[in-house]
Amino acid sequence: MTARVIDGKAFALALRDRVGAAVPAFQAATGRVPGLTVVIVGEDAASQVYVRAKGKATEAAGMASVTHRLPADTTQADLLALVTALNADEAVDGILVQLPLPRHIDESAVIDAIDPDKDVDGFHVVNSGRLAAGLPGLVPCTPLGCLMLLEDVLGDLSGLDAVVIGRSNIVGKPMAQLLTAKSCTVTIAHSRTRDLPAVCRRADILVAAVGRAEMIKADWVKPGATVIDVGINRIDADDPGGAGGTKLVGDVDFAGVSAVAGAITPVPGGVGPMTIAVLLRNTLVAAHLRAGLAPPAGL
Ligand code: NAD
Repeated sequence: MTARVIDGKAFALALRDRVGAAVPAFQAATGRVPGLTVVIVGEDAASQVYVRAKGKATEAAGMASVTHRLPADTTQADLLALVTALNADEAVDGILVQLPLPRHIDESAVIDAIDPDKDVDGFHVVNSGRLAAGLPGLVPCTPLGCLMLLEDVLGDLSGLDAVVIGRSNIVGKPMAQLLTAKSCTVTIAHSRTRDLPAVCRRADILVAAVGRAEMIKADWVKPGATVIDVGINRIDADDPGGAGGTKLVGDVDFAGVSAVAGAITPVPGGVGPMTIAVLLRNTLVAAHLRAGLAPPAGL
């Protein structure tokens, strides 16, 4: 079997278009555009790239984008004061504090200071609790993007065996909660799981969120399974005699697993583009809920 390659880039562009198309109706109803404010502390190169991409995408969707760039020696008290001011600012629908923060700042204290109704990353414990309890709330972007791709490929997920490798608060755990809510039978595997290949082979849906280059091999995958590769790993480019350099790969051995799986996300071009698209979606949803409006259907 040669797996269908899931085009996350195309799906994400279509979602971004749907978000952008819904902005004028929100503006007509409220007299303002939805607004996302991103806060970045320090000079981490990857974070700078992500923050620029988020700002551009927000503007392209017709929403208001503000970025606060703070120096690396910003105190926790100053950062918390900014978050408090953003919580009180009516023009701000979404607040995203880019992680990681410098080591002298307690990340969970900062996340917990964000108004849960503006927490478009979905990391606040109130939103984790809402997700766990099956209540409406803001859901972390990457796992929600994975779920959208899975439903697009498979339709109804009910009764399927799902294995999520990774138990982080930002990917693995919320992914497992979302799949449970869709009536999958869910296993969370992690670094202490015994016989991980055997656990993976049970999966109709296999989500890898580990951060280990090409760890999941073809013989770990049930024939016909749908494989979602969240991992982003930079490795040396395999370029004999070439100029060297690096390339991005996922947690899944794409070439090997493609010969066994029914469908698979590539890296890059799979889950990655979904994260920003869902961030825009979450901002629009947060704006509607804060304004007492029903979020547009189809998002
Ligand atoms: P994390 O480091 O917080 O968690 C990794 C998880 O993998 C842990 O729960 C750990 O138990 C598990 N693990 C580690 N080694 C393992 C092993 N040998 N076998 C089984 N499980 C093992 O990472 P994270 O923040 O959840 O991110 C995971 C990956 O997803 C990273 O590569 C990250 O870059 C990527 N990521 C991508 C996006 C995106 O937009 N595509 C977003 C977030 C994270």
